[in-house]
Amino acid sequence: MTGIGIDIGGTKVAAGIVDQDGSILATDRGPMIKDSHETMLESICTVVDRLLAQGHERPSAIGIAVPGTVDRDRGVAVSAVNVGWRNLPLVDLLQDRYGLPGVIANDANAGAWGEYAFGTGRDRQHLVYITVGTGIGGGIIEDGRVVRGSGAAGEIGHILVSPGGPLCPCGVNGCLESLAAGPGIARRGKQAAAEQPTAIVQRLTDGNLENLTSFTVHEAAEAGDPVLQTVRDDTARWLAIGCQICQQLFAPECIVFGGGVMQDGGRLIQDIRNWFQRLAGSPHPDVENYIRLAAESEHSGIVGAAALVLEPER
Ligand SMILES: [Zn+2]
Repeated sequence: MTGIGIDIGGTKVAAGIVDQDGSILATDRGPMIKDSHETMLESICTVVDRLLAQGHERPSAIGIAVPGTVDRDRGVAVSAVNVGWRNLPLVDLLQDRYGLPGVIANDANAGAWGEYAFGTGRDRQHLVYITVGTGIGGGIIEDGRVVRGSGAAGEIGHILVSPGGPLCPCGVNGCLESLAAGPGIARRGKQAAAEQPTAIVQRLTDGNLENLTSFTVHEAAEAGDPVLQTVRDDTARWLAIGCQICQQLFAPECIVFGGGVMQDGGRLIQDIRNWFQRLAGSPHPDVENYIRLAAESEHSGIVGAAALVLEPER
């Protein structure tokens, strides 16, 4: 049995055929044309058509990951700010087109499910997944099921950790995302470097602090810049506070981190572990396994989406 995983982003559509072990048999991608619901649907179908034309075994279902809120039971993408749709019945539309059943999920929830089904969490029944990139998304798996609450549970990025702090895209001041996602890291880095500029940061930004990104913050810290080492350390502390909250609320077997900001050679994950231990009343006996990196690759969005149908929730 194989499934199609469709990973929808703000500017592109990626899709793949995935087998029951989570291995990718074929992939394709294309631009997301956002002029109307019709052009968006055609953008998706163009990629899926090319994928099916590659001549693999016919998939038996379609999993769809979208950057927004969904109504899983009705198969509807309720709202996706980056894509601009409201109440799009995507599962029915794709079923009409391809005659295949489908499941839709928020992309962070699909990422969590992919890690649970095929990734670093596959030996666990209770896990928390946190993806740190342009934003911070989350997914909670409890006894082999995604926790949804009355709707969009698992929005770990919008836990309020610093009331009155920086403005988050959600409209609240001081969410975890406003401090520890890529843009928040860059903003704190710019503030700190403006107050205490160093030769290292001058060199890395060509003398223009506007060029500072979360990646440059990491590079400067690695190069020995004490100011940006503090900024990076604060990122780890905020994320460790997020872990501490998740630990108390859900008692997961592990907390899995993914996303572009975590792709730094393992430095940030180690700093998060260190802060987690410092914040704890008693240190965790196996923090290396408790706080882990996702087993993700460039195709993890596709695998996560396909996992929705290849390893359906009980
Ligand atoms: Zn927020």
